[in-house]
Amino acid sequence: MFQDISPHIFNNQYVPCDPKEGDIGIFVQNGTVLCKVEEGTLSMPVLDRQSSKSASRYLFSIDDINFFRLSDKDSFPDFSTRTYHELFSLSPDWLVFGALTALRLATWYEENQYCGRCGSRLEPSAEEHMLFCPRCGNQIYPRISPAIIVAVRDGEKLLLTKYAHGYSHYALVAGFAESGETIEETVKREVLEETGIHVKNITYFGSQPWPHSGSLLLGFYCDLDGDNSITLQESELSVGTWFDRASLPVQQNTLSLTSTLMESFRNGTI
Ligand SMILES: [Zn+2]
Repeated sequence: MFQDISPHIFNNQYVPCDPKEGDIGIFVQNGTVLCKVEEGTLSMPVLDRQSSKSASRYLFSIDDINFFRLSDKDSFPDFSTRTYHELFSLSPDWLVFGALTALRLATWYEENQYCGRCGSRLEPSAEEHMLFCPRCGNQIYPRISPAIIVAVRDGEKLLLTKYAHGYSHYALVAGFAESGETIEETVKREVLEETGIHVKNITYFGSQPWPHSGSLLLGFYCDLDGDNSITLQESELSVGTWFDRASLPVQQNTLSLTSTLMESFRNGTI
């Protein structure tokens, strides 16, 4: 999946250090990141002695390469900004993972400059990725939103959907956790809301950080409980249908938790 970058090692403990030559600079602007793309290969700004002066915040490291947020892009005139979607399928995988994770974290810094309680300018913590208000003491942490993706089984059939807007390929029922519910209750509620069916035997499958939306995706599989008639929530979905295991559509994107769940059903693993 997207986060599987072995043998490279992602280290997100907050251990700030001075930038060194060869580290990577992350400049973000309105949800885009400064980079270069050539024939499917991603390049990121590599810091030298001069450009490292604009490194404003340590983010994390992969192997011995540190990622720093940049305060300006002046040292990299031949780079341009790109969106999440333009980067996702590029190579090498570890750099794409690093760039998108850094884009999410640096965007969080960019979007949280003032205290939501009193309006004072926030300051970064010296010990962790946290912003605090020197006036009222308010603390702000990176926002990570839990969301579920669920493979609903009816014997040899799997429930697939298509969104009403945006992503046009087959998907699984998905949605964000709401206040006051357990993640298993999120699964039941989302399936019922989107397709009108009840489920049982909810089993955890695995998780995936998803920088596009700042979510932590939690994958489950479960079984139909009762009537298999689908009543679509048309504001969210355009298609909801049962597919036989043998005729499950092939996923274009093999990096996602959705495709991993679907392939696991095809292979009989779940
Ligand atoms: Zn404040």
